[in-house]
Amino acid sequence: MSKLSRTLFDKVMVPNYSPLNVIPVKGKGCKLWDQEGNEYIDFAGGIAVNALGHCHPDLVNALKEQADKLWHLSNVYTNEPALELAEKLVNHTFADKVFFSNSGGEANEAAFKLARKYASDNFGEEKHEIISFTQSFHGRTLFTVSVGGQPKYTKGFEPLPQGITHLEYNNIKMLEKAVSEKTCAIVLEPVQGEGGIIKAEADFMSKVRALCDKHNAVMVLDEIQTGMGRTGKLFAYMHYGIEPDVLTSAKALGGGFPIGAMLAKEKFAAALNIGSHGSTYGGNALACAVANKAFDIINTEETLAGIVEKREIFATKLQMIDEKYNVFSEVRGQGLLVGAALNETYQGRARDFMVAALENNLMILMAGPNVIRLAPSLLVSEAEIEQGMSAFEKAVAKVVA
Ligand SMILES: *Cc1c(COP(=O)(O)O)cnc(C)c1O
Repeated sequence: MSKLSRTLFDKVMVPNYSPLNVIPVKGKGCKLWDQEGNEYIDFAGGIAVNALGHCHPDLVNALKEQADKLWHLSNVYTNEPALELAEKLVNHTFADKVFFSNSGGEANEAAFKLARKYASDNFGEEKHEIISFTQSFHGRTLFTVSVGGQPKYTKGFEPLPQGITHLEYNNIKMLEKAVSEKTCAIVLEPVQGEGGIIKAEADFMSKVRALCDKHNAVMVLDEIQTGMGRTGKLFAYMHYGIEPDVLTSAKALGGGFPIGAMLAKEKFAAALNIGSHGSTYGGNALACAVANKAFDIINTEETLAGIVEKREIFATKLQMIDEKYNVFSEVRGQGLLVGAALNETYQGRARDFMVAALENNLMILMAGPNVIRLAPSLLVSEAEIEQGMSAFEKAVAKVVA
């Protein structure tokens, strides 16, 4: 058999992705190796998924142990890893109840359906409007792309689910005006990830909370990218001194094994009564076994405090690079969700930086065409940051030249 190559992708895969040429075959911590044995530093982390790096030995063990015991049951039965994980999520957050899915989009789908159902059951079907924000990203199912605020992702897929309004993020006045008795949910990311690493202001977050209370609307926080330690707390809402009604998690939750979760307060969770929603694989024993272990490693003082310190190193390095090459307008984000917005001169060129980084054996991400995004392992070492950032400096030098 000939070597599996990037060319084969174009031949046998649907053209919805355009992957880079390198095909990684092995990973360990923050390092990856390709088919030729070339080594890379990974600051992309599978788009904020590999929060404990690649093949963390404890996650590998958890997976292997569970693989010898039990894989799947269906929801006709519950299983021990799912119960254990749900209990952890409930004990360490605002939530009373958990629903498991296989991805972030499905967790949001459950959250949006819950909001509609809760409003319909309690206030009638007139109360069905969902408010979300431009540039937001909530997944790729038809409902979740429709709630998401990026029209390029819904184009051609019409007719779309109705009753969804998109407002400017962080605009309190606009929000006050738009909320009404018909609003069933306000949905937002504490830091817009795909939208460019833009943080919700504290006032805005409080206003969303207050307006949801006033209008009996469900406050849904999409923490699929910000959750599970990424911002330096278990969930990003914990920085704000508020609690949502419903929160969605995925990505880092399974550390690379597909799993999503919707967390809810009792009152709202009750809307998803028997038979109203479900998923064949949701709460799968293998996924939950890995997620349990990931939770135990992430939710420690040591891991969480480290994130704040490591962010400082990234921020300092990026500022040094900027002083030398004048490429950024702003370094932003929170914890190890790091955004570097390109200045006027480099608008639209984030992909060039990403490609140049790869040529220097460094994997990074973009968040839209104008923002470079780093979402490394939460366990990245200082030495790895140094090594990765000097590769990044070389990449920047090349793009600027
Ligand atoms: C990645 C992401 C999603 C979608 O998750 P999938 O697992 O790809 O379905 C939804 N919301 C946010 C904020 C995300 O970052």
